[in-house]
Amino acid sequence: MTRQRPLTLILSCEHATNDVPDRYRPFLAGSIDQLGTHKGYDPGALEFARLLAATLSAPLFAGSVSRLLVDLNRSLTNYRSPPIPTRNDLPFALKEEMLARYYLPYRSQVEEAIEGNLRNEKTVLHLSLHSFTPVLDGVPRTADVGFLYDPSRAQEKAFCGKWSAGLAARDAMWRLRKNYPYRGTSDGFVTALRKKFPAQRYLGIELEINQSYPLARKTDWLRLQDQLLESLVEALQV
Ligand SMILES: [Zn+2]
Repeated sequence: MTRQRPLTLILSCEHATNDVPDRYRPFLAGSIDQLGTHKGYDPGALEFARLLAATLSAPLFAGSVSRLLVDLNRSLTNYRSPPIPTRNDLPFALKEEMLARYYLPYRSQVEEAIEGNLRNEKTVLHLSLHSFTPVLDGVPRTADVGFLYDPSRAQEKAFCGKWSAGLAARDAMWRLRKNYPYRGTSDGFVTALRKKFPAQRYLGIELEINQSYPLARKTDWLRLQDQLLESLVEALQV
């Protein structure tokens, strides 16, 4: 039996901001009003990512432009609907610019950080931090936190089990779900990275937090962040 290595934490936040540089704004004319919504960014995700990075001294990679321009959490080959990974209605040259300026550097920076740790015989826990809108197309979402992983990767499944159990033990009010509101194997950054790195050395987990907390329930939001952090630390030590 191989010895279990301690996990090295790497944090990423693909939908950190709704920033759009001035020169790109004319291209978003029809959807500028979406910038402040979940379509523009993930409210609260960067705040929580920064808390984890500062407390746990972990590297954090955060997107610097709105997902309305380029979606850092989508694969290059996935062109089914905008903005995957760039808006469909952008001029071709601008799409190329989005990929070269934002998408490719971001994806390769995170990938290189993971590779560096694997070269040093480390096992990486990559947390990709996101938030989801409480109501989508009129249907309320039924979770406060979603832990997204690949059920066929035993270490990911076990880690999410420990983390969510620790959070549930701190407060029974949280509605915790596995692979919700999306499947952990749906297209996303960690899903793409699982194809590159072995299950024994790379754990890719996407955390999804209900945006009702950062947007409207400040006291509970602070408590949720504290308890997510505490239970993460506990899961890392087990
Ligand atoms: Zn997101």
